[in-house]
Amino acid sequence: MNMGKIDKAFAELQDIVGDRATTSPIHRMAYSRDWSPRYRGMNDLPDIIVIPNDTQEVVRITKVAHRYEIPLVAFAGGTGMGGGAVAWKGGIMIETKGLNRILEVDQQNMTVTVQSGIIIDVLNNELARHKLWLPHQPESKRACTIGASIGCDNDSTFGLRYGKISDCLLNAVIVTGRAEAVRVGPRKVSFSSTGYKLLDLLVASEGTLGTITEATLRVVPIPEAREVRGYLCRCLNDTAKGIERLLGSGLAIESAHANCRNRLHFYTHSYREKYGREPQLPEWAAAILFLSFAGDEDIVAFTVDKATQIMTDELNAQLVREQELVEGWWDSKHRLEFIPFKQKWPDSQRQKKFGAADLGLPIGRLEEGYRRYLEIAEKCDQEILGMTIYNESPNKATASVSFAVFVDDSSQDKVHQFYQYVREMSEMAIELDGTMSTYIGDGDRLGGFNQLEHGPGLKYMRRIKRIFDPKNIMNTGKKFQSRWIEDHKGVT
Ligand SMILES: Cc1cc2nc3c(=O)[nH]c(=O)nc-3n(C[C@H](O)[C@H](O)[C@H](O)COP(=O)(O)OP(=O)(O)OC[C@H]3O[C@@H](n4cnc5c(N)ncnc54)[C@H](O)[C@@H]3O)c2cc1C
Repeated sequence: MNMGKIDKAFAELQDIVGDRATTSPIHRMAYSRDWSPRYRGMNDLPDIIVIPNDTQEVVRITKVAHRYEIPLVAFAGGTGMGGGAVAWKGGIMIETKGLNRILEVDQQNMTVTVQSGIIIDVLNNELARHKLWLPHQPESKRACTIGASIGCDNDSTFGLRYGKISDCLLNAVIVTGRAEAVRVGPRKVSFSSTGYKLLDLLVASEGTLGTITEATLRVVPIPEAREVRGYLCRCLNDTAKGIERLLGSGLAIESAHANCRNRLHFYTHSYREKYGREPQLPEWAAAILFLSFAGDEDIVAFTVDKATQIMTDELNAQLVREQELVEGWWDSKHRLEFIPFKQKWPDSQRQKKFGAADLGLPIGRLEEGYRRYLEIAEKCDQEILGMTIYNESPNKATASVSFAVFVDDSSQDKVHQFYQYVREMSEMAIELDGTMSTYIGDGDRLGGFNQLEHGPGLKYMRRIKRIFDPKNIMNTGKKFQSRWIEDHKGVT
């Protein structure tokens, strides 16, 4: 990066936000990574970190970046797994957690308007005082922000009932690469048939069109009661069939997650370690389907009984008798710190890192996806962790699948092998009529080959990017480029 223009930009940024702008090496180091696998010693340092407090400050910061043509990257919780928040082209990093205020709770219309850097858990603690909650909850909700949820369209624990963030998002303010603040979407209604749906363009845009600074979201009452159950199934496709059958019967399910045989063994292993006894699981169990049910107490009790009857009688599944195992699963959905049921991450994170290909597959192809996953992981020398299927559309079985592996990040070559694995898994998803990513986004991983999925559509996407960001300063190097291909010619 040309240090002359960085120095000039830094002086102007200090005029705007004072000591909320810094070039100190320690801060630059702190913002050099997210949770994507990167080899040890690999650091992508931003040149400047700046912490704005409102939309107008973001506008003024963007004007500086625009004038000097310096990349501008939004950084939220830093838990993204696709390198989206990493400034591999250098530039100015906007730390969004200064945008952390709740602007309005409208109880009558059941909406909340927030600044985009608010952490989801912090927002929900405040909403609880009004007996309301935002059901959009990724497992990283203790660190993840509203802006990043829109930016990378992440998955939610409660997706089967409430969908993704787009299902509760009413409008948002974006500061585009032209340094203009624009509110997109209707004010307090859920839909509008006027104009073009610019709000939809922001979802999964990963900061490449602009910085989201505010959002209005629909919230719901906190349910009175909740129950969780686990069912052992004979194959992965049965988990999707079971969900469809339960929904078809008229039952309301709040969340549904399924795990393959490998991941199931994680739960049984952790159970054994924690309780010192063997869980009684039949040999034939090839998958486990975890469900949660919420609402009024009597309705929940009825739903649990009816769901169990359908799963056991019609799907030939078995109810998990060790309820601690099921509660361990539920508990793991609501913690960012690591506990035994959470994939034994304390150890794995010290030695090897968690990495995943996050693919969307048609629900009838789960078995095939699992078989191909085992083959591709072996070919790319990746240690299998297991496959988890999240359901992320309201009231229908869908498959947002995390195909997880342990990544050996001890060397550049080993990490490149992981990205080769991601690439081959992505190609497999397209072959099976699926999608290359359902919750991580393109980040700096998929850009070199996502034409496979979008074909000529990619040309129109580039044009849309130019309308919002004519100087290509917004999260430069993401979505349309792959850092891993450019970094290592062997990975093409
Ligand atoms: C323990 C753990 C559990 C996880 N569980 C889940 C899960 O259940 N479901 C799931 O989908 N993911 C999960 N993830 C992945 C990750 O948390 C999500 O992808 C999350 O959305 C990232 O949020 P963040 O606030 O950390 O964003 P960051 O990583 O900081 O940023 C993510 C992307 O959003 C962009 N961005 C951030 N703020 C803005 C803004 N204001 N405007 C425009 N763009 C912006 C960034 O530039 C970047 O491209 C998990 C990760 C971890 C480490």
